[in-house]
Amino acid sequence: MYLSVHTAAGLGLARVIPNPIAAFAAGLLSHFVLDFIPHGDEFLADSAFTRARIRRRLLGAAFLDGIILVIFLLIYLWTTPQLNLNVVAAAVIGSLLPDAINGFYLITQAPLFKRYVHWHAKLHNLPGHELSWQKGILVQGLTFAALWLLLI
Ligand SMILES: [Zn+2]
Repeated sequence: MYLSVHTAAGLGLARVIPNPIAAFAAGLLSHFVLDFIPHGDEFLADSAFTRARIRRRLLGAAFLDGIILVIFLLIYLWTTPQLNLNVVAAAVIGSLLPDAINGFYLITQAPLFKRYVHWHAKLHNLPGHELSWQKGILVQGLTFAALWLLLI
């Protein structure tokens, strides 16, 4: 997850890719690349929990992360002149779409996305990639900071 990190990557891509379709594709690809960086958020969906509890925990984390995302996105849009908003929107949507599909599946259990969600979870939780949530927050926070340093 860490929607704010994926958004920062999308904003960075929107700065260097002027075409909305290419920016969307790059944002989408960037999501899976960033998912290789350990997250430490596996504890949110512990297999001992019920599906309802996992859903509440993941949606709660996404809500908090979404607040951070919106704050930084608004600051960026406010302080950065001459943005092509179509490109920004395309890149950010591409960078968030994989997790949005996960969230949609979490709520609806739509069978169409079941295989994708399992594949995404495997990519996200590679064996030997587990971190404690404290270390995950540190790693993702540093990734977030590095992306923002590129943006400013
Ligand atoms: Zn992901």
